[in-house]
Amino acid sequence: MLASKLYAPTLREIPADADVVSQKYMLKAGLIRKMAGGIYTYLPLAWRSIRKIEAIIHEEMEKSGAQEIMMPIIQPSELWLESGRWNVYGAEMIRLKDRHNREYCLGPTHEEMVTSIVRNEVKSYKQLPLCLYQIQNKYRDERRPRFGLMRSREFIMKDGYSFDQDEAGLDASYHTMYDAYSRIFDRCGLKVRPVEADSGAIGGSNSHEFMALAESGEADVIHCTKCDYAANIEIGRPAALTEADEEALPLEEVVTPNCKTIEAVAEYLHLPIEKTIKAVVYNVDGLVVLAMVRGDHDVNEIALQHAVNGAVEPEMASEEDLKKVGLTAGFISPVGLHKSDDFSMVVDETIMNMHNVCGGANKVDAHYIHINPTRDFSADDIIVAPIRLITDTDVCPHCGSPLAIAKGIEVGQVFKLGTKYSQSMGAMFLDQNGKSKPLIMGCYGIGVSRTLAAAIEQFHDEDGIIWPRAIAPYEVAIVPVNAKDEALMNMSQSLYDELQKEGVEVLLDDRKERAGVKFKDADLIGYPLRITISKKSIETSEIEIKVRKDGQIVMTPIDEAVAVIRNLLKTL
Ligand code: ATP
Ligand code: MG
Repeated sequence: MLASKLYAPTLREIPADADVVSQKYMLKAGLIRKMAGGIYTYLPLAWRSIRKIEAIIHEEMEKSGAQEIMMPIIQPSELWLESGRWNVYGAEMIRLKDRHNREYCLGPTHEEMVTSIVRNEVKSYKQLPLCLYQIQNKYRDERRPRFGLMRSREFIMKDGYSFDQDEAGLDASYHTMYDAYSRIFDRCGLKVRPVEADSGAIGGSNSHEFMALAESGEADVIHCTKCDYAANIEIGRPAALTEADEEALPLEEVVTPNCKTIEAVAEYLHLPIEKTIKAVVYNVDGLVVLAMVRGDHDVNEIALQHAVNGAVEPEMASEEDLKKVGLTAGFISPVGLHKSDDFSMVVDETIMNMHNVCGGANKVDAHYIHINPTRDFSADDIIVAPIRLITDTDVCPHCGSPLAIAKGIEVGQVFKLGTKYSQSMGAMFLDQNGKSKPLIMGCYGIGVSRTLAAAIEQFHDEDGIIWPRAIAPYEVAIVPVNAKDEALMNMSQSLYDELQKEGVEVLLDDRKERAGVKFKDADLIGYPLRITISKKSIETSEIEIKVRKDGQIVMTPIDEAVAVIRNLLKTL
């Protein structure tokens, strides 16, 4: 490719709304353009990288025995009504109607559709196992589309689905995909760690997320400093903390003017925060849920969802929600409250071990001191569950060693679905004894566009992107320092031709720009190797190769250049 022809419109200024490095550099280097919030066009450089990620995925899927298909993006509501997800998927689903008023959605995922395909064709155990996948745009109207390609509303996903006749078969399919995913991210050059993940209503450790560790990650990964344990913080269930016994003092109401947060109350009453309890109110699929944790703890929303058997993730309650069940924002505790059809209370286990604590009095500007939960909460009205978020002050659930927390970008997830969809949608097969059984399913996703962004989040410096070679748009950039000098251009052109003949993906910067501009662009775009051809190269017949990753300079005679470049590329 000639740089003079390449459509990579670089920007001088980074748009103000770009908030992570990958987004900044991709906009600046002319890799992507924003069309609307969370909706992007991939320009040639980004698209080449995406194609490389996809090629790696295709190769590894092929090796794993998975077969590529292409399902429609537009999905009829009927399928989602069958699985029961049409009414619980919520605002994230982009819905539309055709001219006959029939309802559809733009696929956020394809479990329903793939199940509806195989249920009509797969009838016998002899057709199993089966694994189908596709790479396609997915649509999710994210509450907060942000971070460029990392959390967008239209994004590219590889989604795969396995069908087995029994649990042992599912285990094997799951492991095959787990291993394939490890190889895919490894081949893409990413540093990725598989971690235990939430498996929704099905329970157990039936899911792993592949996390690219990076500061800008939105997920928290808790991991042991000694053993292999690593999990999404959402599934950590820390042990209840014990508290020293105390004599229960009589409940007492105190005035707390304008103290609407537990921190403000603790400060106002000169209490340690560990002697307070905090109320956070959620809406879980229409149910108003009061979650109570110790003042210095945070609520694990996924644990809370499980505690109330919620079909969807909890959302913060609105003012109307509070009004509906008569809660006084800022001054809430379970003392004197009762559950109802619209209202549940979930109390963290640790709270039940506390004595003489401070919490809301359920009226404006008032709190109680000396709440003793076992005495003052109505046992019939509360659910006691481990709903506090695990922290790095807890210990490893496997070996008891200290824990640490790191930020991760979820680039993939593998999941044992079991019979969730086959059961509800009637996808049955006949086993060896002629007995009708639901197919046992697994599902496996990779965020292809997110993976591209994650690679940049992991590999960059202040000058720009540092592509892992496997997914770099071009492997080598040749920069003749003066495009008007015919001798330089001839030398550059013949090296360019030779590298192309050898199958090296090379770009020749033939633009009539100053050398400094070309160097800056090469660093920004992040080609793994940059070759400089200057007057000196002609005089000495030597060229300079710069390794983008570590700045290493290698001088080589021009007639050995191709071999040296090939060898260098192998190390990147
Ligand atoms: P998240 O928790 O980050 O919202 P998810 O768990 O809902 O993601 P999955 O349903 O597991 O996502 O989708 C499979 C993969 O698709 C994810 O591992 C992720 O890499 C990618 N992905 C999901 N949502 C987005 C998005 N909004 N933008 C880009 N990639 C996404
Ligand atoms: Mg996921």
